[in-house]
Amino acid sequence: MAQVKFINVEKVYDGNVLAATDINLTIEDRELLVLVGPSGCGKSTVLRMVAGLEEATSGEILFDGKIVKDLPPKDRNIAMVFQNYALYPHMSVYDNMAFGLKLRKYSKDEIKTRVVETAELLGIGHLLKRKPKALSGGQRQRVALGRSIVRKPSVFLFDEPLSNLDAKMRVQMRIEIRKLNLDIKTTMIYVTHDQVEAMTLGDRLAVMNEGRILQVGTPLELYNRPAVRFVGAFLGSPAMNFIEAELSPENGEMLKTGFTSFPVPERFMAAVNDHTGTSLTIGARPEDIYIAPPEGAKNSCHGVNAVIEVTEPLGNEIIFHLKIGGQSIVAREPGDRKGEPGGNVEAYIDLARLHLFERETGIALPSS
Ligand code: ADP
Repeated sequence: MAQVKFINVEKVYDGNVLAATDINLTIEDRELLVLVGPSGCGKSTVLRMVAGLEEATSGEILFDGKIVKDLPPKDRNIAMVFQNYALYPHMSVYDNMAFGLKLRKYSKDEIKTRVVETAELLGIGHLLKRKPKALSGGQRQRVALGRSIVRKPSVFLFDEPLSNLDAKMRVQMRIEIRKLNLDIKTTMIYVTHDQVEAMTLGDRLAVMNEGRILQVGTPLELYNRPAVRFVGAFLGSPAMNFIEAELSPENGEMLKTGFTSFPVPERFMAAVNDHTGTSLTIGARPEDIYIAPPEGAKNSCHGVNAVIEVTEPLGNEIIFHLKIGGQSIVAREPGDRKGEPGGNVEAYIDLARLHLFERETGIALPSS
């Protein structure tokens, strides 16, 4: 059991590479927190500092309120799971899982109990006598996980553990890891650049970019209320549409875009008061743009002329790539919605669900 806390942590490599800065974050006991962001944003650095493999340049990391600066990695009681799960090829699954416990001089009985229990938990109980080469990628990954679990660490650190697996196996292992977290209730910090993995796994996500944590929250909080444009753009697929707009006071406050003027949505009324004349960016998720608005959304929709460029029928849904006033816009509709490439349609943008960001800073305007 452990709570992990970062206070003003910064990491500078070689005196000039600022890999992480202003890291203030608390990972609660038993929580699964996902650190997500593009490659090079500093995720692994943050994780490696928890492990003690890198030392923070400044700031403090605490486990259960105690500063861990002088604690070497082996005394931190953490387990790290990487994408390259180096199993010993000449050892059976059992021996691979037992290895760390033998080193720590656990009794034979204790080792057996822990290995068998863990193997059952991971669904590899029938594979204990096999060698790694006789296992599939997913099974090997489970053994690697099992090897960490048997030690009963207080914190699990995962560094992109699934990136070597094929798409189907990734989805399966993702669910396994989530189940594992619910079963063994140990603090887990999970690093990935994959936003779907992040959304589906995390109790909370911390979205990072350029060494900074931009926002921390539950997957839905971040998806529905991105604090900055980067978070809005990073989470969700197809990605959020962005439309440049000026805030101009004609017939009330209007958002003037290259192709139409929208009335300012009700929930932004208070916020726009001190933004008159400001350049903004409208964010509209593909599912909030309709070819045919559902009954409940009709009143809040604003219609514009659009041309269908391409459609992507996925069965359960269909993605429309539209051209609206010269701009490419993506809409997502239920799978049975009809529309032919080249066709003219009215596209409806749901004003009640728009996001507004200051263009210069990318910061979201507050909404009620
Ligand atoms: P991520 O895990 O998000 O891909 P990293 O934490 O690995 O990002 O890297 C963050 C930044 O720090 C990158 O610019 C990377 O090149 C740099 N970096 C990482 N490790 C080292 C190192 N050992 N020495 C120098 N620079 C490093």
